[in-house]
Amino acid sequence: VDKEYIRNFSIIAHVDHGKSTLADRLLQFTGTIAPEKFRDQYLDNMDIERERGITIKMRATRLWYRSKDGSCYLLNLIDTPGHVDFSYEVSRSLAAVEGCLLVVDASQGVQAQTIANVDLALENNLEIVPVLNKVDLATAEPDKVCQEISQVIGIDASRAVRASAKFGIGVEEILEEIVHLIPPPQGQVDAPLQALIFDSYFDPYRGVVVFIRVRNGEIRTGMKVKFMATGVEHVVEQVGILTPDEVVRTSGVLSCGEVGFIKAGIKSLHDAPVGDTITGCDNPTQSPLKGYKPAKSMVFCGLYPADSSVLFENLRSALEKLSLNDSSISFQPESSSVLGKGFRVGFLGMLHMEVVKERLKREYELELLTSAPSVVYKFRNLKGEYFMESNPSKIPNDARHFEEPYVKLDIVCPDQYNGTILDLCQNHRASLEDMRYVSKGRILLKFLIPLAEVLTNFYDQVKSRTRGFGSMDYEFHSYRSSDLVKLDIAVAGDVVEGLSCVVHRDQAYSKGKEIIEKLKKYIPRHQFKVVLQAMISAKVIASDFIQPLRKDVLAKCYGGDVSRKKKLLERQKEGKEKLRQLGKVRLSPEAFAAVVAQK
Ligand code: GDP
Ligand code: MG
Repeated sequence: VDKEYIRNFSIIAHVDHGKSTLADRLLQFTGTIAPEKFRDQYLDNMDIERERGITIKMRATRLWYRSKDGSCYLLNLIDTPGHVDFSYEVSRSLAAVEGCLLVVDASQGVQAQTIANVDLALENNLEIVPVLNKVDLATAEPDKVCQEISQVIGIDASRAVRASAKFGIGVEEILEEIVHLIPPPQGQVDAPLQALIFDSYFDPYRGVVVFIRVRNGEIRTGMKVKFMATGVEHVVEQVGILTPDEVVRTSGVLSCGEVGFIKAGIKSLHDAPVGDTITGCDNPTQSPLKGYKPAKSMVFCGLYPADSSVLFENLRSALEKLSLNDSSISFQPESSSVLGKGFRVGFLGMLHMEVVKERLKREYELELLTSAPSVVYKFRNLKGEYFMESNPSKIPNDARHFEEPYVKLDIVCPDQYNGTILDLCQNHRASLEDMRYVSKGRILLKFLIPLAEVLTNFYDQVKSRTRGFGSMDYEFHSYRSSDLVKLDIAVAGDVVEGLSCVVHRDQAYSKGKEIIEKLKKYIPRHQFKVVLQAMISAKVIASDFIQPLRKDVLAKCYGGDVSRKKKLLERQKEGKEKLRQLGKVRLSPEAFAAVVAQK
């Protein structure tokens, strides 16, 4: 195909605005998927994606389209996930295309993730083609949303296609816009090879399959190529295209401007990192393409098998397998006095964490207990040495000069909820950076807020305080110093590993109280008094106790033999003393789970 007739594009949108549905319609309209093979959300092929109705892994597929002027175009569509946790996937796909469809629900208008996604598209200098979706709904206000797009995003939306992905309205117009507005790929066939890796996955039978966009030159089977970031060299075994099934090309060539996959006997995803540039060993390019920001784990938690320690090895192998396919998971062994042996696992965000836990449960049948999620803190010890740690129980008592990750938070909501959102954010240590109208009656609020504060049930709060009309999106901003302390919880004198947490000094007392109250509910009464304490640097800031069981040793003692009574009571006291020495209060894993639970 002549490059002039190739268009590479992505679809971006706020979650639920209809990306996947529109992708379905594009596949159908262009006859890419045979009608008998079609099912809804065709490109979402992971079970969890289909059930939750969200896209997690991006997909790429090619479509043939004969335009109204009679020319035949090859369109490469890269579907993207909309959720904040997966924005690194969005930025990957955007680096591989020349333009994108910006889908906005005409009944909802511009939302927080619409803005975030457009920012990514603009960073990549992409042509943005706006689409007003769901115009079939009675509540659709396409004119108003058109203005929002122009006002907030600063692109001309006056000729935006008014579409209904659900009913297949406007699909052909969208294809016409793609063909006419999005530029064909640049690049030269006779230049040295430069191919961008935008995704890769591990297949147990076939090894690593690498998805690429060829920017310059050609890649062909038998060619010796080099992965520029890692320096490893491989011989290309197979070259193919995505229809979206992987179809091997008999010609064995992928040329400048094209999107496809290669196989080259690569054993590990780490040898072919996303964002790396592939070049030829014989005629190498001097400069790699601009890569992506590598995905970074932002949220960590301990994962422990719920019952026996035999499962520890199962958990290890499950995590190893999962990370072959999701290089954004990181993990290392960890042990806890209550939960035994497990792993400290890093995730991109809370949804990512839930998805991974769900997959471990479903695909590997692992029932897991989780410690409270935590961010990575930076701090210094007394000697001034510098540390980073995500496990609060490993933070030493002399830790000081804490720094924590802050995020830029955007919230879009109807203006009558302004007050309650400001109030919520104030309670979570946020500072308001900007506030403006996106249209009459709807505002965009911009905050800086500690990531730790949005990890709990913050999103639920935004949703409930705005009766479901608010949306939010956040992105890492920077590390900033905060007046944080490590809070330890001791039960019967022993600090319980895994209950430690890092909190703002002002919240330490109330947080300590809260945990102690929960513990009180879950620890049964013992023969002795169980003391519960919240401590900062071994100093008690809050405490409570659980009354001992008192066996009535005098019950059988009628009459007034005082000395005998005394003796009995003394013996009971001795017994208690003994128990107290042995005195380990066992905290059941279930109780532990209940205490660390956020809500
Ligand atoms: P995504 O999260 O952006 O991929 O959104 P989906 O494609 O999964 O769509 C979210 C929901 O909106 C689904 O229930 C779709 O059936 C529905 N939907 C998508 N497009 C339309 C449309 O044009 N009209 C109506 N009424 N519903 C739509
Ligand atoms: Mg989707």
